[in-house]
Amino acid sequence: MGSRNKILIVEDDENIASVVQTLLETNGYQVFQARKCKEALMMTTSYVPDLVVLDLGLPDADGITYLKEIRHHFSLPVIVLSARSNEHDKVEALDAGANDYVTKPFGAAEFLARVRSALRNAKGHVPGKKFELNGLSIDFDSRKIYVRETQIHLTQTEYNIVVLLAQNIGKVMTYSQIIKEVWGYPDDGSIKKLQVNMANIRRKFGEKPGKGSYIINELGVGYRMNDELTDIS
Ligand code: CA
Repeated sequence: MGSRNKILIVEDDENIASVVQTLLETNGYQVFQARKCKEALMMTTSYVPDLVVLDLGLPDADGITYLKEIRHHFSLPVIVLSARSNEHDKVEALDAGANDYVTKPFGAAEFLARVRSALRNAKGHVPGKKFELNGLSIDFDSRKIYVRETQIHLTQTEYNIVVLLAQNIGKVMTYSQIIKEVWGYPDDGSIKKLQVNMANIRRKFGEKPGKGSYIINELGVGYRMNDELTDIS
């Protein structure tokens, strides 16, 4: 694993915090804990963690408060780990700057995959001239996209969406984040427009919804370029 990444767990439930800490430590991470929002803010400043695992229901403030506060100063990745499973809470956390959202109860393997992904993301795989992912390749110079060596013909908008997701691989991009980046402004039909474009992209890629596809549909929340692909067929 190389140098040990520092992870701050912000969680008031001692049992959950201890389970998460053990899981992370046995996977080679160095772990700190904070119980409250205020403490978490101080620890973020003094320890500068590589990643934060954030509960939303904290005794002194909502986790969203912490998120908004640190986003003024830090770009470190934050994974929200919450019992709140509705779309509204996910979208709010992601729009406030969370990199990912995991719902309690969570599976260890899935959680660790999200942690790896968020850390990779933070290290910035700034795309060079090319993006490669398990048979999907994007040539940024010529603006050409290939799936298993077959060129895929996308519209400008479709291309821009794919590139945005590729540049943020592993991270859920909410509808409003994508709309802002691709169209610059939201309007009433924006989400519908995005969904239509996305359906076209997935059809052109030959994808079916599900875990084995390049683009994962986070229902009611947004889309994510899948960076833990094992097999596509
Ligand atoms: Ca809590």
